[in-house]
Amino acid sequence: MAEVLTGNRADEKLLIQRAYKKLLRAIKSPLSKDDKQNIRKAYEMAVHAHSQQRRKSGEPYVLHPIAVATICAEEIGLGPTAIIAALLHDVVEDTDVTLMDIQRMFGERIAKIVDGLTKLDSAYNMESPQAENFKKVLSTLVEDVRVVLIKMADRLHNLRTIGSMPQHKQLKIAAETNYIYEPLAHRLGLYNFKTEFLDISMKIKEPEHYHEIARKLQETKRERTRYINEFIRPLLEALDGMGVPYRIFGRPKSIFSIWNKILSKRVPFEEIYDLFAIRIVLDVPPDKEKLFCWQAYSIVTDVHKPIPERLKDWITVPKSNGYESLHTTVIGPKGRFVEVQIRTERMDEIAERGFAAHWKYKGVSKQPDVYERWLDSVREILEDPTSDAVQFLGDFKSNNLFNEEVYVYTPKGDMVILPKGATALDFAFNIHSDVGYHCTSISVNSKLVPMGYKLDNGDQVKVLTNKNQKPNEEWLTMVSTGKARAKIRSAMKDERKIKGQIAREALERKLKNMKIVSFELAVEQMVKFFGFASPTDLYYAIFMEELTIPEIFKHFREEERKLVLQVKEPVEEPVSVSVEVAGRKALRRKVLGKPRLLINGEPGERFEFTFATCCNPVQGDQVFAYLTSNAGLKIHRINCPNATNLMANYGYRIMKAEWIITPNASFVAEVKITGIDNGPGVIEQLTHRISSMLGLNIRSFSIEGNEGYFEGIVSLLVSNTDQLNLAIKSLQNLQSVSSVTRIE
Ligand code: MN
Repeated sequence: MAEVLTGNRADEKLLIQRAYKKLLRAIKSPLSKDDKQNIRKAYEMAVHAHSQQRRKSGEPYVLHPIAVATICAEEIGLGPTAIIAALLHDVVEDTDVTLMDIQRMFGERIAKIVDGLTKLDSAYNMESPQAENFKKVLSTLVEDVRVVLIKMADRLHNLRTIGSMPQHKQLKIAAETNYIYEPLAHRLGLYNFKTEFLDISMKIKEPEHYHEIARKLQETKRERTRYINEFIRPLLEALDGMGVPYRIFGRPKSIFSIWNKILSKRVPFEEIYDLFAIRIVLDVPPDKEKLFCWQAYSIVTDVHKPIPERLKDWITVPKSNGYESLHTTVIGPKGRFVEVQIRTERMDEIAERGFAAHWKYKGVSKQPDVYERWLDSVREILEDPTSDAVQFLGDFKSNNLFNEEVYVYTPKGDMVILPKGATALDFAFNIHSDVGYHCTSISVNSKLVPMGYKLDNGDQVKVLTNKNQKPNEEWLTMVSTGKARAKIRSAMKDERKIKGQIAREALERKLKNMKIVSFELAVEQMVKFFGFASPTDLYYAIFMEELTIPEIFKHFREEERKLVLQVKEPVEEPVSVSVEVAGRKALRRKVLGKPRLLINGEPGERFEFTFATCCNPVQGDQVFAYLTSNAGLKIHRINCPNATNLMANYGYRIMKAEWIITPNASFVAEVKITGIDNGPGVIEQLTHRISSMLGLNIRSFSIEGNEGYFEGIVSLLVSNTDQLNLAIKSLQNLQSVSSVTRIE
């Protein structure tokens, strides 16, 4: 480092040359003369293009692309194309070199990869929402996997050298790594990357715990080595007897996974015995793999007693990310549990390098191509036109595209592989979207099950259909795959469109009568005023009679053939519009005694703001403002269920909000009441308490009873949290009531 800081050009040149030599040594694949020349050309282009730039640490910038290329070669085992692209990955974005230059010199393929990398980077630099970013990552992934692999190497090098960044940037990068790159590394089977991502982000977020565990690992190293030798020694003779090359060694657990164990098992470091696993790696021909692995298993378990429940055979059925290995836990010396992993060199390479190694062995394993299948499902979701980026990310996370799979069967015995957590209804949609749409009942292992039944490995599933059946909103809660959800959503959308058409025509007539010129503009105003997401939602609400046309025109009038808001807002009950949201009635509302807020210290009237319907803030709640992409500012409660996600991913869109207390404002608050249903008097008791005694208005009230127990949801109009809390206390005092809670 000292030589860098002197700024001595000659020293720096040497440093760069040394890095390049290290890169060349790291390349394992045989290179043609052309490859060698092109790598050299790319290196020279990068050195020249970045010559004026420095990294945060003060180093010449070009050391970064060289290091990324070295990681690609050494740790992912990528070939010349990827190495050249990695060397050039930052030139288009940061220097005068254009994509055309690269295409001219290195051809179409490399230009495409560099372009993909540049786009990913710009998404990141613009601080665009992570959902957008993530969608981009995946779109490039299905186009050319190398883009994402190089991006992983880029991220890894940035993390390894993150020390010179300010703390808040480190935290942001750590959060992003955990959010996108770590699960992706897992899914792509890049085990070593995943481990290092987790370890480095832990080091950033929990530095004390990280260093403490690292220190303790170091202190206990000798004892561990002694133990491992004691475990291995009695196995060696029999292993040698198999007559094939093999490696056996102890492999320490990562710091993050030890930390995880300390947290989840609530034990101190000293009580964790599986700080390492024993690994046996056999070098055998492809057709003998299974045979030799089981033979090694038998050798180990002849000496150390196995715990049968801990046997995992991922050779016969590999994990969905391609992982193959035989795992068992045995009782080693001193009665300690020791995990043993048995695999072949090929399996070992796939386990460490996943996707990258996978191509090398294409066709060797008899398993269905796990990555191809996964990529297909990624493509399917990407192609769904109805899903925007945020929805897409939601689909992705809930859809468990990152998780393991569940294996089930059709009545004919064909295997169907679905993500873990998939339901019977997901199965129906997986067979064919028409089977999903018209599904009336499903049986699993010859027994009827609810459509939301969670499938288990080995289930045999039969779907009954009827062509008059149609999906409804509730179905959304009964599926977990993005595919089924997208299909249901788009069917619902069509349905809403058809139903809304009638309302649309009525509205059109009314506006024509009023001599309004632009229908679209007028509708846009209404959508905004009532807080709908789209015109379709407005039409649908009118169709469902949640909002009537006369109600709309209480707020608007014609002026110069344009629609304008009534200047003086009539003093009357707030208009309340209820809209179906994922099967649950949520209230949207326009409050007339207009609540006032300070937003980022300025009077809120300067901005357009509405209240979020996910958490229905009430005057007095702790709130924040969130700048939406199309609906102005939304006010959420700090403890809104969506708040964490918004703050983590769109921190730059969050604004501070404080109430300016307005006495006549009114807010909708939803309260859940449960209790003992001792006769028909319950409803009356509750409404009496609310309206007569507390003097509050009830917007809606639903109650359900079951075997003497009831559960009710009341939505109340209150002017502040004091009033709401008083109401909750007062209801709690009722004899038949056991709990009253505000709905989060
Ligand atoms: Mn970079």
